[in-house]
Amino acid sequence: MALIVQKYGGTSVGNPERIKNVAARVARCRQEGHKLVVVVSAMSGVTDSLIKLAKELMPLPNEREMDMLLATGEQTTIALTAIALHALNVPAISLTGAQAGIVTDGVHTKAKIKNITPKKVHALLDEGQVVIVAGFQGQTMEGQITTLGRGGSDLTAIALAAALKADLCQIYTDVDGVYTADPRLVPGARKLSEISYDEMLELASLGAKVMQSRSVEFAKKFGVVFEVRSSMNENPGTLVKEETRSMEDVVIRGVSLDKNQAKVTVVGVPDRPGTAARIFKALGDAAVNVDMIVQNVSHAAASPCTDLSFTVDKPDLLKAHKVIDSLKSEVAFREVTADENISKLSIVGVGMRSHSGVAAKMFDVLAKNGVNIEMISTSEIKISVVIELAKGETALRAIHEAFHA
Ligand code: ADP
Ligand code: ASP
Ligand code: MG
Repeated sequence: MALIVQKYGGTSVGNPERIKNVAARVARCRQEGHKLVVVVSAMSGVTDSLIKLAKELMPLPNEREMDMLLATGEQTTIALTAIALHALNVPAISLTGAQAGIVTDGVHTKAKIKNITPKKVHALLDEGQVVIVAGFQGQTMEGQITTLGRGGSDLTAIALAAALKADLCQIYTDVDGVYTADPRLVPGARKLSEISYDEMLELASLGAKVMQSRSVEFAKKFGVVFEVRSSMNENPGTLVKEETRSMEDVVIRGVSLDKNQAKVTVVGVPDRPGTAARIFKALGDAAVNVDMIVQNVSHAAASPCTDLSFTVDKPDLLKAHKVIDSLKSEVAFREVTADENISKLSIVGVGMRSHSGVAAKMFDVLAKNGVNIEMISTSEIKISVVIELAKGETALRAIHEAFHA
């Protein structure tokens, strides 16, 4: 008998038929004698429409109220999933994140899990119940409802698997596993049988939304091996785990495209110590995640000033703009501009450590396809470039073909 944590994403619970399908799968697994904790997301499209509703009332809604609103999406699904299991005569009970003992910090809309007290979940499992937990949500010590960032149900599942010391953690989604690129954008993408935490983490942070990046970070930290697989068939999925020696033989594990990025440029920033620190501290305090940063060489030697560009997630653009504007009198820059017409294309692989010429090959393919590079950033196992949004998908396919054909 194993203790299994399964997570079903939005598409997998997107309508009553799909919820019945999930219930049937869960019932089968329980019949095999396993204890089951089932984490579910909001039905597909629900979180997006709740956000849209709020934004019709004001462009930058209060984040505490957003959490209150968004948590209802998952709360609907847990109850429906429990009801679908009851219809199959399977004992099941739904729990909100708070009821499952998930305690977070107070950073609304992007809260971090501080700890999980799984006593109640264990007790319910011992009673023979299937425990259905709302993904994406938790509660602060003070009782405020929080959410864990978009895609956060993955994190709920992995954190629960760690806290419960589960034997297996399975992430069920609408694709068979992790592919060399988003199979919806690249028809020739291939399913990977395994991938290291570090590669999965890079791919996830760089746009492969099949896993939430923070959930992969958590899995790595606590050594939670998990499998990504489809809720629609029985195909084997992709195992995400610690790096093994042979993984370095493959130079590029995957290619990703992030169309959800925007570029902010602070023009005419005085080039003196402390300016960048001031700007990025303010952004950090406002919980805006900054990714790539480029600072140009100073113009005019007399009173040197520079342009500072950085990328943020599109939903954070308005907030980033507001934060920078509020520094105008203190930092004395000339103006701020925002560009939403960008995308970030990345190649990832632990094999890059031991192979040379990878960047040259990537840039050459982009040049041959008439794609201009606006920004570049690299780590030991990835190369990312910012390019024009309209060219993103063509470039993604060309790069995938060059490295994976
Ligand atoms: P869920 O609702 O189950 O959490 P998501 O929509 O968040 O599912 O993630 C699954 C989607 O991720 C797939 O439908 C696929 O289009 C996309 N995706 C992006 N990159 C990849 C990749 N490298 N491998 C597999 N899927 C990917
Ligand atoms: N419902 C949330 C979202 O759409 C969380 C999740 O699906 O994982 O982002
Ligand atoms: Mg997801």
